[in-house]
Amino acid sequence: MSNSEDWIAFDKAHVWHPYSAIGADLPVYPVVSADGVRITLADGRELIDGMSSWWCAIHGYNHPQMNRAVAEQAEQLAHVMFGGLTHQPATDLARKLIEITPESLQTVFFSDSGSVSVEVAMKMAIQYWHDKGQPGKQRFLTIRKGYHGDTFGAMSLCDPQTGMHSLFSEILPKQHFADAPTCYFGHPCKGDGAKGLTEKLEQHHHEIAALVLEPIVQGVGGMRFYSVEYLKEVRRLCDQFGVLLILDEIATGFGRTGKLFACEYADVTPDIMCVGKSLTGGYMSLAATLTTEEISQTISGGDPGLFMHGPTFMANPLACRAALTSIDLLLNSPWQERIKNIEQRLQQGLSPCRELPQVEEVRVLGAIGVVELKKPVEMKHIQQCFVDAGVWIRPFGKLVYLMPPFIIDDEDLNKLTSVVFDVVERCPI
Ligand SMILES: *Cc1c(COP(=O)(O)O)cnc(C)c1O
Repeated sequence: MSNSEDWIAFDKAHVWHPYSAIGADLPVYPVVSADGVRITLADGRELIDGMSSWWCAIHGYNHPQMNRAVAEQAEQLAHVMFGGLTHQPATDLARKLIEITPESLQTVFFSDSGSVSVEVAMKMAIQYWHDKGQPGKQRFLTIRKGYHGDTFGAMSLCDPQTGMHSLFSEILPKQHFADAPTCYFGHPCKGDGAKGLTEKLEQHHHEIAALVLEPIVQGVGGMRFYSVEYLKEVRRLCDQFGVLLILDEIATGFGRTGKLFACEYADVTPDIMCVGKSLTGGYMSLAATLTTEEISQTISGGDPGLFMHGPTFMANPLACRAALTSIDLLLNSPWQERIKNIEQRLQQGLSPCRELPQVEEVRVLGAIGVVELKKPVEMKHIQQCFVDAGVWIRPFGKLVYLMPPFIIDDEDLNKLTSVVFDVVERCPI
């Protein structure tokens, strides 16, 4: 740990980071530990975490109950293959997920990342229609500005521009896209709000297995919050045209938007639902795809009568135990109050940004606060400004956003929002 310069130099030359270049001029900051809402760098500086490590670390870092659960599980059973074997961490977690998600979701498929849970959802939809005698339904409908992961199937559902579809055009499955909703959260959605989707469904429903979207909050694809009525209309359209509804709750799940799952805002039940990210409170990589008895029975009773997927680390006991503990911690905490409080403070603290000439829009929902700028940030510079100010905030394109751990106190939250204002005002962007 002492000679951090050595491993940082090695990192620069040999280790890929998310969406990165080897040898790039963009610094990565070396972390040695994290506790509560603070991340400690190798040089001893502490940063207040405004990102929850990409939606995940809802209880903060180094949580004693989480640590204990994972340590105990490691001593009992760290991993065992899931083919032909089972264990209680998996069955307890499946039971819990079935209990807290919409009622008709009754079966659970565990995988190791959000992207894979989306691939699994897509395969489920295709197998379902195959077994229903409609093998032609192999395509998907989605909306622009979405994000569903980086593997090929998931990537084919991401916004065509930000998802770089042209770069992979020969291999990427071609899906149907409608424009992103223009009716925003808290506003009505006029009768024709989902016209784009309706048109696509009218033309192509015979080849569409499912409509896939992120409920209420479009995450990395734009951090946009759309109308509850739009999501209700989506459900209605899926039923009308005989298309399954896949909701990707990977970012929104487990309280982030103010509801346990964002689909609750619209009282909509998907046919298939993906969860991941904060599922384990940021401790381990785990995701799950839930579906209805109708779909699981149809696939299981069809041809070949098996669901065709099975990851090596499926239902890893350490990850399942972390998830169980994280969900218990969340449900036994005053999470609604906490998120309401975070929402109010984000509103108050970020609203002065509206006066800045650099800022296009400020929007807040639950524990998500977004300052959309008029121009994309200059990453190297703005990142340094945030670190110098003692916070960890990682902007993306035109978006400077906060999604702090739910346990953050008012003082730290105020610091995060005031630093956002200062940096946006002072730092040349
Ligand atoms: C992050 C994310 C994914 C992909 O999850 P990974 O664990 O990174 O594979 C999929 N959908 C949404 C909405 C996400 O936010």
